[in-house]
Amino acid sequence: MATTSCDVAIVGAGLGGCFLALLLSRRGQRVVVIEQGPSVPSAGADFLKPPGLRVLARHGLADLAGRHGLRRDVIRYYHDGDPIQDCRFPDGFLIRPYRELVELIYTCCAMEGVDFWFDASIDDIAMDDGRVEELALSNGRRLRAGVVIGADGTKSAVRQTLDIEPCTVPYERVVMRVATVPLTASIAQLNRLYFSSDGWFTYFYPLSRDQARVFVGLPPEDDKEIFQDGIPALVDALKKFVTDSSDAFDSLQSATWQRIKVSSLRLGAYHKGNAALLGSAAFACHPMTGMGMSYTLHDAEILADVICAAGGDKELLDRLLSAHYEPRKHAHGQLIDYGDALIATFRDRDAYLAAFRPDLHVYGEAAMPATELPALQPI
Ligand SMILES: Cc1cc2nc3c(=O)[nH]c(=O)nc-3n(C[C@H](O)[C@H](O)[C@H](O)COP(=O)(O)OP(=O)(O)OC[C@H]3O[C@@H](n4cnc5c(N)ncnc54)[C@H](O)[C@@H]3O)c2cc1C
Repeated sequence: MATTSCDVAIVGAGLGGCFLALLLSRRGQRVVVIEQGPSVPSAGADFLKPPGLRVLARHGLADLAGRHGLRRDVIRYYHDGDPIQDCRFPDGFLIRPYRELVELIYTCCAMEGVDFWFDASIDDIAMDDGRVEELALSNGRRLRAGVVIGADGTKSAVRQTLDIEPCTVPYERVVMRVATVPLTASIAQLNRLYFSSDGWFTYFYPLSRDQARVFVGLPPEDDKEIFQDGIPALVDALKKFVTDSSDAFDSLQSATWQRIKVSSLRLGAYHKGNAALLGSAAFACHPMTGMGMSYTLHDAEILADVICAAGGDKELLDRLLSAHYEPRKHAHGQLIDYGDALIATFRDRDAYLAAFRPDLHVYGEAAMPATELPALQPI
C-alpha cells in the first residue's frame, strides 16, 4: 500500500488530538489523525471548567459547546452530612458528556478537511536518529509526517516508542465507580459532593434535562462488600453521610455501576525530536481537580503555535518544543500535586478545607504567576 505524507500525524482522536488537529488545519497544516477505535472515544470527562471554556472561546467554539450543555456555577461540599463550603464559579462551568464535546470538535475538523483514519492502530513506529520517520498501521497503511503527536491516552504507544518512562501512581486507597441515573429534583437544583470521615465520597450532578451522573468513591475493602453479587448494598452506606440528595437513592440500587481506574501520571520529558505527547499521554491528575481537559486544550494551543512557528524546520521545532512545551510539566505537576492533596485529605474536614484552593480549582493555571506561562517568542 502507498505511503501517505502529511505535515502532522496525530495518534488519538480524543479531545486533545481533535482540538490540536482543528487548530493546525485552520492554519493550513495537512493533518492526519489515527484512531484505533471506530469513532471518537465515548468515555471521559463531563466538566469543562472556566480555563477550558476560555480556550474554546479564543477559537470561536465556546457558544457551540455551550449550546447543548448545562451551565452551572456552584458546587456544594459536605462532610459527614453537613455543608462545609460552596465553591463558586463566577463565569460558570460547562457540563457536557465527553463524547458530545469531542464530536463537536471532530465535526469542525471534518469541515476543515482533516483526514481521520479510524480503526487504525499503530503497528510500528520507525525511528531514525531520534526522530519519528514513519508510522506503520495495523491496516497496512503507512504514514510519513514532519511532526508526530502522541495524543493516545495513558498507555500511549507513541510514548513507549520514544522511550519516555512514565511515573504512574494508581489512587489505590479509593475505588471509583460511576453510574448514569434519572435526574431528580435535588440533583437538578445543585451539584453536591459529599465526603465522609469513613473514606467515602459521592458526587451528584445533572448530565442533561433528564439524566444525572453519580460518582461514588469508597475504600477497596468496602467496594468488595458493597458491590458483591452485582447488586449494590449502597444506599444504606450512603444514608450515613448523604443528607440533601435522598430523592436519588431509589435509582441507585438498580443502576449499572462502572468501575474506573484512576492514576496520576508524570513524565520527565514531553517530546523527543519531531514527536511530542499531549493530554493523558503526557500527564494525568486526580479527576477531583476537574481540570484535565482545560490544561489539555491549552497545551494543544501551545503545540499548534510551536508547530506553525517551526514551519517544517526540524531543529527549530526541537528548540521551540524545549522552550515552550516542556515547561508545561511545571503547571501539570502543580495540578497533579493538588489532586493528590484533595484525595489524601477529604476524610478530614479541616485538612481538606486547608488543602482546597479555590483559585486553582476555579481558574486553574491562570491563577498562577504569569512567569509560568511563557509567551511564544522566536529563539
Ligand atoms: C474518571 C475521570 C474523570 C475525569 N473528569 C474530568 C473532568 O470532569 N474535567 C476535566 O477537565 N478532565 C477530567 N478528566 C481528564 C480528562 O478526561 C482528560 O484530560 C482528557 O480526556 C484527555 O484527552 P486525551 O485526548 O488526551 O485522551 P483520550 O480521550 O483518552 O483519547 C485518547 C485516544 O487515543 C486513542 N488511542 C489510544 N492508543 C491508540 C493507538 N495505539 N493508536 C490509535 N489510537 C489510539 C484512544 O482510543 C482514544 O480515542 C477525567 C479523567 C478521568 C479518568
